[in-house]
Amino acid sequence: MSEQTIALVTGANKGIGYEIAAGLGALGWGVGVGARDPERRETAVAKLRAAGVDAFGVPLDVTDDASVTAAAALIEERAGRLDVLVNNAGVTGGRPQEPSRVDLATVRTVVETNVLGVIRVTNAMLPLLRRSASPRIVNMSSSVGSLTRQSGPADDLTTGPVAVAYSPSKTFLNGVTVQYARELRDTGILINAACPGFVATDLNGFRGVRTPGQGAAIVIRLATLPDGGTSGGFFEDAGVVPW
Ligand code: NAP
Repeated sequence: MSEQTIALVTGANKGIGYEIAAGLGALGWGVGVGARDPERRETAVAKLRAAGVDAFGVPLDVTDDASVTAAAALIEERAGRLDVLVNNAGVTGGRPQEPSRVDLATVRTVVETNVLGVIRVTNAMLPLLRRSASPRIVNMSSSVGSLTRQSGPADDLTTGPVAVAYSPSKTFLNGVTVQYARELRDTGILINAACPGFVATDLNGFRGVRTPGQGAAIVIRLATLPDGGTSGGFFEDAGVVPW
């Protein structure tokens, strides 16, 4: 089995996911670039490799059982285990998302990717993670999934637009993260949720104020927690995010 630390980042072909892959690769790790589109995946892998990262492509659509099963088989064949899983892939679902006007198909699509996709990928990878000496899982959440912040003062800039699909999908994901932490308490697998801040990416039409590299930093911190570190928490650069 490989001595090198092996990570998989979902949705790693662009945005924050790409920078997470670059950051973990800079540690000398082997990084699986999980991406659903072959061209975007191979372009990202080539760019990472040119930057010195030991990157490899992992065809992966988080909404598709067969794709996720094949991704686990690819990693098993390549490395025999997985040390770090970053569930980064996510969608907003577009607009409108005011509760009174939303199309239920929008809610379904967003939950399918942002929540069920994370459970699907995590469960497929768990057998490989259990073979690692220091397994870590990081779920990419958002502070818009914080009920405390969403129900705060109307002028609170962290609340952003009303979004009945996207924001609750991250609240749901936070709950899922806590339940995994409870089940995995005695296994050495640490699992946490991260908020990258408001980052300029395709997701928000590049309106964010942080760079993808800045957004990746909290994920890299949680991916490299020491043994015995925290699990079942929700963190941003400044510390704990309230539920
Ligand atoms: P992005 O640039 O749009 O990247 C999203 C990534 O997810 C893309 O690689 C996309 O692949 C992938 N993806 C979407 N659906 C997928 C699926 N079914 N299977 C596999 N991959 C899929 O957006 P980003 O801002 O970097 O977002 C990354 C994560 O950060 C998301 O979970 C998002 O909710 C979270 N986040 C972002 C912000 C922000 O301000 N940007 C704030 C808080 C949280 P394609 O290229 O194929 O579409």
